[in-house]
Amino acid sequence: MTTIKQMLAANKKWARDKKKEDPTYFKRASANQKPELLWIGCADSRVGPDQLVSLPMGSVFVHRNIGNLFATNDLNSLAVLEYAIDELNVPNIVVCGHYGCGGVRAAMSHSGIQPVDLWLDQVRFIYHRHAAELDNLSEKERWDRLSELNVEAQVHNICRNTIIREAWKRGQKITVIGLIYDIHDGELKKLGIEFDSLDAWEKHYSTK
Ligand SMILES: [Zn+2]
Repeated sequence: MTTIKQMLAANKKWARDKKKEDPTYFKRASANQKPELLWIGCADSRVGPDQLVSLPMGSVFVHRNIGNLFATNDLNSLAVLEYAIDELNVPNIVVCGHYGCGGVRAAMSHSGIQPVDLWLDQVRFIYHRHAAELDNLSEKERWDRLSELNVEAQVHNICRNTIIREAWKRGQKITVIGLIYDIHDGELKKLGIEFDSLDAWEKHYSTK
């Protein structure tokens, strides 16, 4: 249990240091939250958004799961999106995938009936939809490309959801963007998937 002990000790030190450098920090931080981002990312321990984007505490509303999925039948994802849009008025939604994703790899390599297999079924469907492109790639390229296609599919799932469509219709400013994080060099990369209105999204997907 050394790790838990270390974690609690580190927390004590952090809270103490924070109060020393800014005595009203926790008073302000506990008053309310006004995040600028909803981050939908993978649960992978190497891709925590707080470290990647260096934004202060209170800036990012976070939802993470294996494979950074926004499953349209997942009450958890839907509740997060609804709360972020309707209550927090978050102006930016980021779907962030990453290269080297174990979830994407598992979806490519096997299927089964364990909970994690069932959760990743959606990634398998994405693979089948793009099999013509993916089957021509090397294994590494296929893994990377499927991670990118998965991000695109999740952005699509968000944009076709009633919660965001209604918000856009009533004039709420929300940008949805798909990014991929490269665990080898620490950089976030745009995937050319970015929508700030219902029109922009419908135009893009009508050409697909
Ligand atoms: Zn992952």
